[in-house]
Amino acid sequence: MKPKILIIYTGGTIGMIENQQTGALEPFDFDHLIDNVPKIKMLDYQIDNVQVSPPIDSSDMSPDRWTEIACHIRDNYDSFDGFVVLHGTDTMAYTASALSFMMENMHKPVIITGSQLPIGEVRTDGEENLITALQIAAATRSNGQPVVQEVAILFENYLWRGNRATKMSADNFNAFKSNNYPPLARIGLGINYNHEALMRHYVEAPVNLRVAMDTNVMFIDLYPGMTEAILRHQFNTPGVKGVVLKTFGAGNTPSSKWFVNVISEAVDRGIVVLNVTQCVNGGVHEKRYVSSDRLAAVGVISGHDITSEAAITKLMFLFGLGLSSDEVKRALLRPIAGEMTVPE
Ligand code: ASP
Repeated sequence: MKPKILIIYTGGTIGMIENQQTGALEPFDFDHLIDNVPKIKMLDYQIDNVQVSPPIDSSDMSPDRWTEIACHIRDNYDSFDGFVVLHGTDTMAYTASALSFMMENMHKPVIITGSQLPIGEVRTDGEENLITALQIAAATRSNGQPVVQEVAILFENYLWRGNRATKMSADNFNAFKSNNYPPLARIGLGINYNHEALMRHYVEAPVNLRVAMDTNVMFIDLYPGMTEAILRHQFNTPGVKGVVLKTFGAGNTPSSKWFVNVISEAVDRGIVVLNVTQCVNGGVHEKRYVSSDRLAAVGVISGHDITSEAAITKLMFLFGLGLSSDEVKRALLRPIAGEMTVPE
């Protein structure tokens, strides 16, 4: 039996072509993309495709499109062995995080990839990324189960857990990294899977799609010199229900009384505040410094080692379920899809 893979094309540099007048890259259709990868025929797979239309630069990605992608996967779930999502790199980590939360019990590979150079360019990284993503989506263990049972990002030499990955470079072919989780696979001469890091699903249950996302959430990024008026103004954003507070180091914040008061008043008004570090590596350690401990005391939740992308989409997802602030706070304490490590 040939592996059956569905390619879901959303746009991104991989499928872009240069506008003759302006020289700027713009999204183009799937047929153009696939015509540029004749090698795909060398894979003995049955490949089908759908286009999330029209193809976009991923800076235009939105929860509606996440829903569209998730619905394509759900509707084709039983007919395909794996899914490859072609996506722009700019917001790929947000999409990967959102999809991982939206698709409960998903135990088939969803491999998201794209490229830094368009597929039509001589030095493109797109061809290799697409072929490798297809191979990973088709890979099975000796018992017939898929090797990858989660949403993952494949880029150049690595496969990363999708909700652990961050775009690290606007130039390098190795554009993504998980700073707090090992690679799921290293790609060199072969594809070497890290079986200990890969997610396993032991219970067979139907995929439960929960696509409602509540976008009344925001980032607040701290910096030395931030004034009370500015912080207050941000917390008073109309309709805001959840804030990802990007703090210093191990979750530390200024010690001024006004600072803690603004946060504590926001929490009392029912705003959920999730503490995430600005550092690229490591996480929030509430008890290490007085300056992080006092946030926990007023009801701020630790995001531990979660990425910003996973944090904001997790808030959208949990509020999208219609949970109250207290329920969201409780749900934030646990990982949903392997997106954070909670210390024992
Ligand atoms: N701006 C492009 C996008 O995210 C960048 C890329 O695909 O690499 O769609």
